[in-house]
Order: sequence, then C-alpha cells, then structure tokens
Amino acid sequence: QSDEKTKAQTAKPTEDTIFGKIARKEIKVDLLHDDDQCVAFHDVNKQAPSHFLVIPKEPIPQLSACTSSHEKLLGHLLIVATQVAKKQGLSDDGYRLVINNGRNACQSVYHLHIHVLGGRQLDWPPG
Ligand code: ADP
Repeated sequence: QSDEKTKAQTAKPTEDTIFGKIARKEIKVDLLHDDDQCVAFHDVNKQAPSHFLVIPKEPIPQLSACTSSHEKLLGHLLIVATQVAKKQGLSDDGYRLVINNGRNACQSVYHLHIHVLGGRQLDWPPG
C-alpha cells in the first residue's frame, strides 16, 4: 500500500490543516497566485514536472461539503487554475485538474484543493 493511501485512510477532517496555515500565511510558501479568495502553490511531493495546488482561503474541508453558496468560489478556483497553468507554460500541451474527495479518493488534507498536473503525458484512467 502506498504512503499516500495510508495517509489518506488515517486522515480525519479537522478544523485546521497545513493548508489553512498556508492560506493564512502562518506558513510561508512560494505563492504562484494570491487573491482575496484563494492561493496557489507548488505541491511538495510533485507527481509531474509541474504540480501545483489551488486552495480557497475559506477552510472548506472537501468538495462534498460545498453548497450552492460556493458556486462562485468554485468557478473562481477553476479559472485561477487555468491562469496559473498558463503562467507555468502548460497551456499548449495540456494538463489535468484533480480533486480528491474523501477516503476512497485518497484525500489526505481536509482543506479543499485542486491539483493541477502537467509537463508530461499523463496516464488514464488514474489508479
Ligand atoms: P494525496 O495526499 O493522496 O495526494 P490530497 O488530494 O489530499 O491527497 O493531496 C494533498 C496534497 O498536498 C499532496 O499531493 C501532498 O503532497 C500535498 N502537500 C502536503 N503538505 C504540503 C505542503 N506543506 N505544501 C505543499 N503541498 C503539500
């Protein structure tokens, strides 16, 4: 069993996460994007030559916790993902967005985040 699976199966939704600390700038990381609603930064354990995360500042634990009140925010996160992907030079060859929701999807950090992966040919279907 991969480390990611073990981590995901033991992860519990909590009030605060490492991403909450990053969003509040309590932990300094190199931000690729920063606005009033979200930030983007490189994944520490990259699964592709380019792998970054877009997270809302609001500490929403996972996609399935969203309601219609989050419609605008979710749209914004997708648009920011495309803008940062463009800045990272991923637009021409393509890239993939992933949201892991819950245990079976191997979510390990319970603060909503969009993975953006690119820079190589990605396989399909995912594992
Ligand atoms: P998984 O860990 O299975 O990929 P998630 O979808 O919850 O599940 O993804 C969490 C991601 O956050 C992982 O890709 C992990 O490498 C990344 N990560 C964890 N801590 C940090 C950090 N401090 N800075 C950047 N990325 C991080």
